Amino acid sequence: MSGTSAVPVVHGRVRTRIAPSPTGFLHLGTARTALFSWAFARHHGGEFVLRIEDTDVARSTQEAVGQILESMRWLGLDHDEGPIYQMQRLDRYREVTERMLGEGSAYRCYATPDELEAMREAQRARGEKTLYDGRWRPEPGKTLPPIPEGVAPVIRFHNPPDGVVSWDDLVKGPITISNREIDDLVIVRADGVPTYNFAVVVDDWDMRISHVFRGDEHVNNTPWQINMFHALGAPLPVFAHVPIILGDDGQKLSKRRGAVSVTAYEEEGFLPEAMLNYLARLGWSHGDEELFTREQMIAWFDGSHLAKHPAQWDGAKLAWVNAHYLKGLRDDSLLALAKAQLFRRGIVPADDAALLRASLVFRDRCNTGADLADWLAMLLADVSPSADDVARYVGNSVRPALATLAGKLETVEWAALAINGAVKETLAAHGLKMPQFAPAVRVLVCGRVQTPSLDAVLALFPRVTVLARLRAASPASL
Ligand code: GLU
Repeated sequence: MSGTSAVPVVHGRVRTRIAPSPTGFLHLGTARTALFSWAFARHHGGEFVLRIEDTDVARSTQEAVGQILESMRWLGLDHDEGPIYQMQRLDRYREVTERMLGEGSAYRCYATPDELEAMREAQRARGEKTLYDGRWRPEPGKTLPPIPEGVAPVIRFHNPPDGVVSWDDLVKGPITISNREIDDLVIVRADGVPTYNFAVVVDDWDMRISHVFRGDEHVNNTPWQINMFHALGAPLPVFAHVPIILGDDGQKLSKRRGAVSVTAYEEEGFLPEAMLNYLARLGWSHGDEELFTREQMIAWFDGSHLAKHPAQWDGAKLAWVNAHYLKGLRDDSLLALAKAQLFRRGIVPADDAALLRASLVFRDRCNTGADLADWLAMLLADVSPSADDVARYVGNSVRPALATLAGKLETVEWAALAINGAVKETLAAHGLKMPQFAPAVRVLVCGRVQTPSLDAVLALFPRVTVLARLRAASPASL
């Protein structure tokens, strides 16, 4: 364990977690963090915990929980404990709050939102940073304001006013932040629900989390969290803040710039093993390896070689990785993918064996399951060749040959070899070359100019379909 050997493992065991907030689909960034946490736990023979951070009651939904669990299952990131829901742990947070109030590391604050806004306004006017001014913080010799009627207090953490918070981030290296930069944050809202920064500390402590992998948007929260760990006498986990993922355009990967949910990629017919392989390389490397299995990732992911700089999303590379896994897919999985993708288009294929045969012919030309379904749909649904293609490829010079071929295909044995013979005889009879003729057949039967080998593709169709499509080109002459 090269990357972590210097750090003693708290609680004596590697335990990691992913803690998504169920306010939407599983974001690709969260999926990558989940992958790192999972692989790290698996590498060390430790445990991986799934925790649902649902304390933002207004924005959390059961539907999002379901989607997150489904995406985790689809990716194969199996957890050893959970899902643990924070909203089911309110008693525990209350217990810790009581203890902190008793020990003086937390206090009630009765300042109203209006009052706090006025405070910040005044600070801004003075050109100061807007920090809570400690008006309700108990201090020796200080007289607190009288408790106002009818104001439900929040509870604030008594953050140390001086000194610094330092930690050695597994990704970013040593980080130090002055306590003067941060204020006494609210840890329990007026309605009794804890805030993220508090619940996360109690949970990571209770769940004996040894290594916290998360997005680096949380770096600024970490000093508070560390101070709370200290206030509670809890051992500190190792923090690993993973840089953000930038979109193709160099901006933060976001919904406005395309698909950011795992679900969207599943729907598009990407494969979970390809997603994992691709996500792993966003901010982590093992030499020059680009394609590796889940088992290799576990063997290699020891917490070292995590990049400090943001990762760049590259849709073309993901497509390439997916195409690689598609080529190696087992027959039953390929069939399942084909069926699922066709089903999404309202096509329910009747013949599994025929569908598999066709999928095996087309998969080398596909990046995704959606690409595969594009090919398969020409076998199972009507095709409509574009007028341009017909005008360009199905000219008078080939129409008589199309009629000849249709005639031959009526009786020939329905297999690639025999179909190939019929095509060759047709070419010879009309003095045509393959490149003059094959595009016409492809456009009419397949609705496209490029396909795998013509005879192999024609053999995938029912004979009647091929005849009907060839003859539809020119009913009078064929
Ligand atoms: N619920 C937080 C999020 O989704 C988790 C942060 C953490 O891992 O501490 O960003």
